[in-house]
Amino acid sequence: MQHRFGLQLAVFLFTSFILVMVQLKVQNPMLLLERLVKGGGWFEIILIAGYGALVAGKMQEPAKVQAWRKYTWFAFSIFFFTQLGLGLIGAEKFLMTGELHLPVPMMILAGPVYRGHISVMTILFLSTVLLSGPAWCSHICYFGAIDGMAAGGRTTRAPFHNKWALKSTVFLLVVAAAIALRWMDVPVLTATLIAGGFGIVGLFLILIVSRREGRMVHCTAYCPIGTIVNIARFVNPFRMRIDRTTCTDCMACKRSCKYDALNREDIAAGKPGMTCTLCGDCVASCHAGSIQYRFFRLSPKTARNLYLFITVSLHASTMALARI
Ligand code: SF4
Ligand code: SF4
Ligand code: SF4
Repeated sequence: MQHRFGLQLAVFLFTSFILVMVQLKVQNPMLLLERLVKGGGWFEIILIAGYGALVAGKMQEPAKVQAWRKYTWFAFSIFFFTQLGLGLIGAEKFLMTGELHLPVPMMILAGPVYRGHISVMTILFLSTVLLSGPAWCSHICYFGAIDGMAAGGRTTRAPFHNKWALKSTVFLLVVAAAIALRWMDVPVLTATLIAGGFGIVGLFLILIVSRREGRMVHCTAYCPIGTIVNIARFVNPFRMRIDRTTCTDCMACKRSCKYDALNREDIAAGKPGMTCTLCGDCVASCHAGSIQYRFFRLSPKTARNLYLFITVSLHASTMALARI
């Protein structure tokens, strides 16, 4: 009980710290309520930090992670797209810059390649990977939340063996297309329409294929940002390991993993596959307690709490700040 309160307090304070810094240091108001009413940002900070503390408290119980992560992540996505919708119908205060950009994660990669300079979104994305490894793809990305929701209940499907061939191909095609569009001086509108087409194919995958398969096909096999996360996450020291001395190879955990990271060969190797996002959905499904977070020499429980602290704080802060 005391531990839970400690984590909640830590999330409350860290989230408040991030948002207070933004409120004080950034010239144009970033917090939504500050944009609507002068001084409203301070109220929003308390509200969002309280939300973070609530989520951290709930997620401290492994059995509640799957449901709480799914619904809070989806709520984040709804909040994000509602603001985008209001921005589209003319309420500029609901947009970050007053200008519209395409809300497709692929733009984090293709945008800078096409424009020739890095964007704020790309910096935000890279900082998140540095701080929390793959949490971008389990708690923060507005698009992936829809894939997570579509993938629904439990997956019992066979391993998705071709996903790396697919992912690599899509990744290379996106980079090549962005370079070609820049090289041929293709107008922004045309490039945006092409990127929009990519997003529509992604939505099709989410609504049809992920729903049918019961796993996040869009995120594990199509999105090039997911591919970057799968590789770049190793710059962060958090890991998930399977204790082979206690694991009974029962495969019960596989049904909780929407990222296709707990196939038989992964379990035999003692660690989830490359597409693992450290989401934590599988921890409670293991009757033997074999699936554990690791962070250097910390105990698995402390490592998990540290991961929750960082991830939930980032999730809550991004909820307050993310908009197009
Ligand atoms: S794979 Fe792409 S869409 Fe899915 S969560 Fe990651 S960045 Fe978002
Ligand atoms: S292996 Fe576990 S922590 Fe990793 S993605 Fe799958 S469910 Fe999440
Ligand atoms: S649920 Fe636990 S014991 Fe069963 S295969 Fe997975 S890690 Fe091993």
